[in-house]
Amino acid sequence: MDEQKTNCEENDSEPTDDNTTAKQLVSSDGESKVIPAADESGANAASSNTSSESVRACALCNCVERSLHGQRELRHFGPFSERPTLKPSASPLPQPGNDDLSSIGFSDSPCLTALLDDSGCWVHYWCAVWSEGVKQTEDEELENVDKAVISGTQRICAYCKRLGATIQCHAEGCSRFYHFPCSAASGSFQSMKQLVLLCLEHIDKAEELGEESWCAVCDSAGELTDLLFCTGCGLHYHAACLEIGATPIQRAGWQCPECKVCQTCQPGEDSKMLVCDACDKGYHTFCLQPAMDSLPTDPWKCRRCRVCMVCGVRGLVLPGSAQWFDNYTVCEGCQHHRSSVCCVCSKAANPSVALQCCSMCH
Ligand SMILES: [Zn+2]
Ligand SMILES: [Zn+2]
Ligand SMILES: [Zn+2]
Ligand SMILES: [Zn+2]
Ligand SMILES: [Zn+2]
Ligand SMILES: [Zn+2]
Ligand SMILES: [Zn+2]
Ligand SMILES: [Zn+2]
Repeated sequence: MDEQKTNCEENDSEPTDDNTTAKQLVSSDGESKVIPAADESGANAASSNTSSESVRACALCNCVERSLHGQRELRHFGPFSERPTLKPSASPLPQPGNDDLSSIGFSDSPCLTALLDDSGCWVHYWCAVWSEGVKQTEDEELENVDKAVISGTQRICAYCKRLGATIQCHAEGCSRFYHFPCSAASGSFQSMKQLVLLCLEHIDKAEELGEESWCAVCDSAGELTDLLFCTGCGLHYHAACLEIGATPIQRAGWQCPECKVCQTCQPGEDSKMLVCDACDKGYHTFCLQPAMDSLPTDPWKCRRCRVCMVCGVRGLVLPGSAQWFDNYTVCEGCQHHRSSVCCVCSKAANPSVALQCCSMCH
């Protein structure tokens, strides 16, 4: 599968601080452990589209249907409101984002006709239902999603600073808006029952929601900023109570231990589930490409969380079969180069002199 073309261009922008591996850099102990070259298929990135047809993406978060940020399915919403007549536009559809937190929404105000047509628009169910002004009718339909799309083209997300933000902080007078993936990534409090978001500055108000804000482990609100929101069941968990991290990529689309499903096949059996050390998303060993026979004993990282600390290449750009070294921080190519270059004087050594210091520095 090589449908990852949209992922290649984006490795220059890095606003998220999810790079937990940066400090490990290249260890020079000369013992680079080979990590099994198995991986998930990365099927979330528009694998089902065929040739010329453009990939359908959400008119708010600009992610494709199989996004990892918990937005649920893409739905079509018809026009509910009067809106300016849209002239057909010559401008191309915006490219769907690559699901990286740095590519949520739109950098420039997208042309409305690219997002909406006379029959309506495509939006993730949860991107729609949390949006300001969207109402749920008695028969569970959502109204005014198109209005939200129109207002989103002018609204900047308080977290990622890109357009398409429609989820407003519930605190009175607060004008912060977020994309759905950024709601969680920003550490805001989210209530699934009331579809309410409270930004970090107003997170104290979550205590007024009583049990809604309690951690499922310790049964107390405790440190509100430490709470992770499960996009499956809506329960909250303190990161500390689960002994996991709370980085933006872990928070976005987070699923609690009860709800965790494989990101490749979605529901399915929960045996042989690998959990990524960096983003806390689950993958079946048998859904990886190539498949793994058993759970590895060392920490494992999914392809989207692998970044080479030497050349900057990202895991999604390399084939799933590519090998990684040093806890997924050195790519195959750089490892190969590293093992043939002296780590002290950087001169190419006789390939048979592996690592450590070559004869030229001694
Ligand atoms: Zn969306
Ligand atoms: Zn955002
Ligand atoms: Zn606020
Ligand atoms: Zn707790
Ligand atoms: Zn859950
Ligand atoms: Zn699976
Ligand atoms: Zn990951
Ligand atoms: Zn590299």
